[in-house]
Amino acid sequence: MNSMTDLNTQTNDALMARRAAALPRGVGQSHGVFAVRAENAEIWDVEGRRWIDFCAGIAVVNTGHRHPRVMAAVRDQLDRFTHTCFQVVAYESYVRLAERLNALAPGRTPKKTFFMNTGAEAVENAIKVARAYTGRGGVIAFNGAFHGRTMMTLALTGKVDPYKKGFGPFPGEIFHAPFPDPLHGVTVDDALHGIELIFKNDIDPNRVAAIVVEPVQGEGGYLPAPADFLQRLRALCDRHGIVLIVDEVQTGAARCGSFFAVEHAGIEPDVITLAKGLGGGMTLSAVIGKAAVMDAAVPGGLGSTYAGHPVAVAAALAVLDVIEEEKLAERAARLGETCRARFEALRARFSCIADVRGLGAMTAVEFCHDGDPKKPARDVAEALKAEAAKRGLLLLNCGSYGNTLRLMLPLTIQDAVLDEGFAILEAALAAVAGDR
Ligand code: PMP
Repeated sequence: MNSMTDLNTQTNDALMARRAAALPRGVGQSHGVFAVRAENAEIWDVEGRRWIDFCAGIAVVNTGHRHPRVMAAVRDQLDRFTHTCFQVVAYESYVRLAERLNALAPGRTPKKTFFMNTGAEAVENAIKVARAYTGRGGVIAFNGAFHGRTMMTLALTGKVDPYKKGFGPFPGEIFHAPFPDPLHGVTVDDALHGIELIFKNDIDPNRVAAIVVEPVQGEGGYLPAPADFLQRLRALCDRHGIVLIVDEVQTGAARCGSFFAVEHAGIEPDVITLAKGLGGGMTLSAVIGKAAVMDAAVPGGLGSTYAGHPVAVAAALAVLDVIEEEKLAERAARLGETCRARFEALRARFSCIADVRGLGAMTAVEFCHDGDPKKPARDVAEALKAEAAKRGLLLLNCGSYGNTLRLMLPLTIQDAVLDEGFAILEAALAAVAGDR
């Protein structure tokens, strides 16, 4: 298999068979499709078939596949150098990107930033910084949270099947509180009471280093954290000297209507983790935080061979330009309104839609049989995904029961492509669900 021509004679099915023989089954795949090319919100596969992409590589290409500005920045960097290891021989672009993110982070306290490769690494390092700063060990996360697949981030992740199954034991001193979920009867008071119970039953608050929260739970079902929940978490952390880490790996880089989703709550986190959309398709994550917290780790305590890779940093600088110039935060807010209005119209037609929710362009519908939250309808979400795929639209589900359809549109998606994709989604739902 040594040329594109050879690759193009392959079918998706044949490649899926080779994949199954060569890869462990633990590496899942949502769609039996092999890509050869992508542009903005469209992907073409090995069989020459065109797909409309409502997944964006799991909320990564916020600026679309192969944004020309990002591609030009990558090419330019490739012509200069690809790797020195920042901790060995540095480059100005890394410092410039840190300066720009420090300026974008909410609040007036001076900030500092360093880079890693993946979202999980960013969260791991946020915990390291919080522990170094507080001299404490405990960490509180939330039910349904997703923070990654490394051992510490798996410990923080609040879903066993499939992420944690068979992989324990995990690091200790990690506790989970309920996350507000109005559809399933969990209020903000319940969630905060859950933390008080952890303080009562499990760990003294003065031994807790950090609370980690997603401003909108991503894999957990596109559940927005209410603004007053985040404000009260901020106050609780202040009261006990706990570092508040806001995990913006999926919500950041303009996806939710502002550069950071947490801006909707008007609070200043101590530490923010960012990844996915930041690199515009290249591998990059960031840990951004209050300077005093970030400086707690000793010299040499942070970093990795590839972290803040020059090509990814060049891409990210272009991504920030594109977000600014094309006003992608505003566009995310408008896209969200459009999608939610279309989903609300569908709710009137289909009894299986129990909820329509989201923040900015993170929009989701939760399917339950007869609209009853106690009867999660994963089968409807899976059937819709399969039916939409037959018609050329790529969708993904999420949520504790896998019964939530989430939209992860490239924020640059053309109106016509969005319209075409939504029409497929609506027709596919009509085919699998049947009207009221
Ligand atoms: N945190 C959140 C909120 C995420 O959504 C994800 C990925 N879905 C991660 C962390 C882990 O990121 P990565 O897969 O890049 O390690």
